[in-house]
Amino acid sequence: MIASNPLYLHTHDSLGWQKTLANCLTQPEQLLQRLELDLSALSEIKKAHSDFKLLVPEPYLKRIKKGDPDDPLLKQILPTGQELSQTPGFTRDPLNEGEYNPFEGIIHKYKGRLLLITSGACAVNCRFCFRRHFPYQNNQLGGAKLDKALSYIAKDTSIREVILSGGDPLAASDNRLQRLTTSLAAISHVQILRIHSRLPIVIPQRITDEMIHWFTSTRLSPVLVIHCNHPQEIDQQVANSLNQLHRAGVTLLNQSTLLKGVNDSAEVLIRLSHKLFEHHVLPYYLHQLDHVQGAAHFEVSDTKALKLMHAVMANCSGYLVPKLVRELDGYPNKIPLSA
Ligand SMILES: *Cc1c(COP(=O)(O)O)cnc(C)c1O
Ligand code: SF4
Repeated sequence: MIASNPLYLHTHDSLGWQKTLANCLTQPEQLLQRLELDLSALSEIKKAHSDFKLLVPEPYLKRIKKGDPDDPLLKQILPTGQELSQTPGFTRDPLNEGEYNPFEGIIHKYKGRLLLITSGACAVNCRFCFRRHFPYQNNQLGGAKLDKALSYIAKDTSIREVILSGGDPLAASDNRLQRLTTSLAAISHVQILRIHSRLPIVIPQRITDEMIHWFTSTRLSPVLVIHCNHPQEIDQQVANSLNQLHRAGVTLLNQSTLLKGVNDSAEVLIRLSHKLFEHHVLPYYLHQLDHVQGAAHFEVSDTKALKLMHAVMANCSGYLVPKLVRELDGYPNKIPLSA
C-alpha cells in the first residue's frame, strides 16, 4: 500500500509543498553559482557531497545571503572538505540507535515516550545531522511494519507520548499522517502526539489547513518541536505558518543544535529566543553536537557552551532560556550540562 518513495504518493492532495520538496536544489555547482560564491573549493565540496548529498529547498535557499561564505544558513547546508577528515571519537552511529530499534520504525529509549520513524526522507540535508549514516531506507513505516509498530505501542501502557520522527515526519503525505494519527488516537493510554520537524522552517508551505486539521482534530494533545538554529531562518512565511499553528492550539517548542560558526554567539542565541517567542514558540533544548563522523568542525567546547548559556540567562526571561543538553548512549534522558 505504501510506495517506496513517500514524496510521490497521493497526487490529489495539496501539491505546493510536495513540488517544492521534489524540486530541491541538489547540485553543488548550481548552489555556488546561485549564491555567487567562489568555485575554487568545488572538488572538495563534491567529494563531501558524494558521501552525504547536498539537498536544499528553495524557500530556505532564498534566505541565504549572496556572496557570503560565512552565512549561518549556508554553513548548515553546504558540503565542505572538513567533513572528510576523521576525528577520534566521532563515529557513524554515536547514539547507538541500532540497539534501541526493537524493529524497524521504532526507537524506544526513554520511559513514557518513543520515536516512531514516520518518514525516511528529509527536506534538507543538514551537514551536522547525527542521522547522516542512519539506514533510513529500512525505516520507512507502512503496511505490516506499521501494524507491528502500532501493536507494540498498544501493548505497552507506559507509553503516554508518541513522537513522530525521521528523517522528517512531515515529509510524509497528509493522508498517511491522518491515518496514522487516527490509529494512535485509538490507543487509549497515548495522550500526546509530538512531531519533531524541520519542515516548518525549511518549507513553511508544508503547514497547510489539511495538515493542521489532522494534527489538531483528534483527542491527542498536539506538540510540534521545530528545529530552528538561527533567527535568520525565520522569515515572514515561517512566521505566518507558526502563527497559524498557534491559533489552532498547537504547543510550539524549538530545539536547536549548538554549531560553531552558525549560532555559537550569545547575541545570536538571545535574538533567536526573542524571535521565537514573538511567533509563539518557546525554546526547549539547545543540543551539544552528537559526535557523528563528518561533523567535528561544528563542535563547540562545553566550556564555551556554558559561557554562552550564562550570557543567555543574564539577558532573557527564564522561560526563554533553552536547556543545554547532550545525548549520550546508556542514560535514561538527555543530559543537562552544568558548570
Ligand atoms: C530526544 C529523544 C526523545 C525525547 O526526549 P525528551 O527529553 O522527552 O524531548 C525520545 N526518544 C529518543 C530516542 C530521543 O532521542
Ligand atoms: S533529520 Fe533533521 S537535522 Fe537531520 S538532515 Fe533531516 S532535517 Fe536535518
